[in-house]
Amino acid sequence: MPHSTTTAGESRWRRIPLWQKILAGLVLGVLAGALLGEDASLFKPLGDIFINAIKMLIVPLVFSTLVVGITAMRDPQKMGRIGARTIALYLVTTAFAIAIGLLASWLFQPGVGLDMSFESGVEAKQAPSLTEILVGLVPRNPIDALASGNILQIIVFAIGLGISLTLIGDKGEPVVKVFESFAEAMVKLTNIVMAFAPIGVFGLIAHVAGSYGLEVLLPLAKVIGVAYLASVLHVVLVYSGLLALLGRLNPLRYLQGILDALVVAYSSASSSGTLPVSLRCAKNNLGVSEGVAGFVLPVGATINMDGTAIYQGVVAVFIAQLVGVDLSLMDYGMIIVTGTLASIGTAGVPGAGLVMLSIVMAQIGLPLEAIAVIAGIDRILDMARTSVNVAGDLMVTTLVGKSEGELDEEIYNAPRKS
Ligand code: ASP
Repeated sequence: MPHSTTTAGESRWRRIPLWQKILAGLVLGVLAGALLGEDASLFKPLGDIFINAIKMLIVPLVFSTLVVGITAMRDPQKMGRIGARTIALYLVTTAFAIAIGLLASWLFQPGVGLDMSFESGVEAKQAPSLTEILVGLVPRNPIDALASGNILQIIVFAIGLGISLTLIGDKGEPVVKVFESFAEAMVKLTNIVMAFAPIGVFGLIAHVAGSYGLEVLLPLAKVIGVAYLASVLHVVLVYSGLLALLGRLNPLRYLQGILDALVVAYSSASSSGTLPVSLRCAKNNLGVSEGVAGFVLPVGATINMDGTAIYQGVVAVFIAQLVGVDLSLMDYGMIIVTGTLASIGTAGVPGAGLVMLSIVMAQIGLPLEAIAVIAGIDRILDMARTSVNVAGDLMVTTLVGKSEGELDEEIYNAPRKS
């Protein structure tokens, strides 16, 4: 009977864990791109619809989750401690990242012996000053911050609201209840959108795989390889090492738990866009509490860009080799400092790192025009750096959760089912 066949097929499909379906979407996307070439762009709208749907969730999800998380914590001092630990861990891991990038490029010399011409006038960006960053944190109008999706301002307002609701006690209860119910609905909506992730990832990857022919990628294969290698090393050595040493946690569980976020980050090249998926991974798979995940992840998606830092290290040295400039120890130090600042200023959207690279290049006197050499393949590098950016946020979230007793280790250690 046709009716019962459909039902059996449906339930078999449902029994496959989501992460396996997302990975299948990725592999099929690569195959479709390889087979169809540029015609694979046909599938791009599927990816665009998926990305729009996730982006639709960011503001309401972050805002409601954070308000609920803070009211549940009931301790403003704890918030301060979490904030300090988060920023310290973000800075340390970013400095490590850029150093690994520099080391990898210095060792493998991807730019030596390469002959590539470049032209075009590229203007150097200015890194924002610390005062500018601090002043910009406080929204003049919270509705404006919500409407324009200014995550840091939304965080500041949500923290203020959460603390005030706690301080007014019983009077705050009705509003807290509304936020709880709203946050719950947003989590449900995230789950519904994520059910379409395999199709969305397929569409995004088919388009990328179809638009980059080997003739564009091959000349730059070495620098792409070095950037990917440094990214993998950073996740495997630094993140796993810190989780094991500081958190006494099994890094394999972390890697399994963040898989969905990694694939969505890889295919979308946007860490801000991946935020709803990261929040879901942190709570469902890693067992981090709503209060910690709701604060640490949105801050990370805005300021913590380890993958971008690796990329800046790799590309700065690559370009120095390409144009035959010898970098001094001082230059390497400069790259670490400006690269860390530039990565903080990088927005979690596709291609932002390429623009910020000009800050590092200008600082050590490299020709900005040389950026054009890698601009053509930047998406391929962007996919890797965004994945590391997201992995870094999730690692710090796990460590902060553990240090504050806000990590449910039963959930963390449970084998993944979905
Ligand atoms: N696309 C990256 C991100 O969203 C930022 C970058 O371009 O480096 O995290």
